[in-house]
Order: sequence, then C-alpha cells, then structure tokens
Amino acid sequence: MRTQDQQMAGSCPECHQGSIQCSHNYFEEGDLRIASWEHRCNECGFRETTAIRSDELEEEEKANFDLCPFCQRRSERN
Ligand SMILES: [Zn+2]
Ligand SMILES: [Zn+2]
Repeated sequence: MRTQDQQMAGSCPECHQGSIQCSHNYFEEGDLRIASWEHRCNECGFRETTAIRSDELEEEEKANFDLCPFCQRRSERN
C-alpha cells in the first residue's frame, strides 16, 4: 500500500518568496511502515527530505509517525 499527501506549508525559509510544498509519501509492507517527508520550494528549489522507518522508532516516537518533522503537521493520508 502506498499513499501520498501534499499540502502547502507556508513561505520558504531560504528565498522568502516561494511557497513550501510539504509532501508525505507513505508505504506499508507487512509490519514495516516507511514514511518519507519532503519540503520543497516552488521558487528557489530549496528542498529538505527525511525518511522514517517504523522499525527504527522508539516506542514513544511511534505516535509521531504521521507528523511532519519539518512543520509538525499531521498527514491526512487515508
Ligand atoms: Zn525558496
Ligand atoms: Zn511539512
């Protein structure tokens, strides 16, 4: 299963002109869940990404699995 959720996440910290698009890609296989997050500016190309694997999370971190580490929004993936 693979889902994607995208939202605008405010103005760019680099160029202060563009808008940041926050993308959440979610993939699930058996017990393993993988989330990748990307913030990308539509003006200057500023980009930051991270990936989270459920098998590398501490127990208390699992509640934050659907939260973007950059803007802390909760993904609206289904
Ligand atoms: Zn920018
Ligand atoms: Zn975000």
